[in-house]
Amino acid sequence: MRALRFHGKKDIRLEQVEEPQVRPGWVKVKPAFVGICGTDLHEYLDGNNLIPKPGHPHSITKETSPVTLGHEFSGVVEEVGQGIIDLEVGQRVCVQPTIYCGKCHACQSDLHNSCPQYGFIGLSGWGGGLAEYIVVPRQAVWELPSNVSLEYGALVEPLAVGFHAVDIAPIAHPIKSSTSMLVLGGGPIGLSVIQAIHGQAASSESPPVIIVSEPTAARQQFAREFGAHHVINPLTTDLVTKIMELTDDRGVDVVFDAAGVQVGLDGAVRSLCAGGTVVNIAVWPKRATLDMNEITFRQRSYMGSATYSNRDFGRVLEAIESGKIKPGAMITSMIALEEIEDKGFRALIEEKDTQVKILVDMGRSLRKDSAVAV
Ligand SMILES: [Zn+2]
Ligand SMILES: [Zn+2]
Repeated sequence: MRALRFHGKKDIRLEQVEEPQVRPGWVKVKPAFVGICGTDLHEYLDGNNLIPKPGHPHSITKETSPVTLGHEFSGVVEEVGQGIIDLEVGQRVCVQPTIYCGKCHACQSDLHNSCPQYGFIGLSGWGGGLAEYIVVPRQAVWELPSNVSLEYGALVEPLAVGFHAVDIAPIAHPIKSSTSMLVLGGGPIGLSVIQAIHGQAASSESPPVIIVSEPTAARQQFAREFGAHHVINPLTTDLVTKIMELTDDRGVDVVFDAAGVQVGLDGAVRSLCAGGTVVNIAVWPKRATLDMNEITFRQRSYMGSATYSNRDFGRVLEAIESGKIKPGAMITSMIALEEIEDKGFRALIEEKDTQVKILVDMGRSLRKDSAVAV
């Protein structure tokens, strides 16, 4: 079968690999739509960061590059392994791509996302969504509700990142209209956070106050479309002054950092109310500094949010099913597998501000392929 495999820096190849066989307790899925993620892009641009290098296999999958890419995907069940009685062939699903040991202290404490052996299907081995078939453990498979499309199914993974950060933020849930929140960055994760706040709000009539800090015009517009009430350009407006103006000198309850920039972090801490919290989601390219006296003397907190728990996919699916969130506008481009380098990776680099999610339509690509084969 065909698969898009990562061999190294700027070296991805569409090639023939052996079709995976289903085994007891595992499910064979035919991928339908696959999102390209910032993480994929970093691996492509910088070489093996997360993807295990030859000679250094992932401790659970035992694999190294070349690996098949694609960790944000939906698909249709092709075959179920022995012992699985709650899934049927033909069911529409999405896949939670997390790999963890299940035995360590973190896994036993319901912190699978913090397992020292953490990895991802589509980066660490076990195949990926950018292939004709993939075989995954039963617990990775989430059934799509009847009114959730396969296209939306591919958005569940990035949305789960936002849902998790909002869920673990130390505020009352469901979120009340008196809560105010600042989101740093209007990229895919910032937009997931905005939707997660709406998805976890107590009532859609009086949602909490959502403020977004984002310098580019295109992303500012996306933030507004997904429900930000105020959008600040931090290059032309003083963030802290503006936040104090918008919150009657109180400050926001929570900042979600989806940008990972020092100047943003400095403003974020000073934008918090007394007792407020910065929740970091960003992957920082370098070490940051924190003004500890700003934290201590107003009893503020700083915490990290790692990917998602084993409940967040369910939360996202429920929010889409019930209409609390409508993530369709996140899909800014739909391409075929053959086009992934030019219209996928390169578009995400060159049109960074106007692209949110580029989805690979695996059906489109396979049809082309079979036409060639005939
Ligand atoms: Zn991702
Ligand atoms: Zn573990």
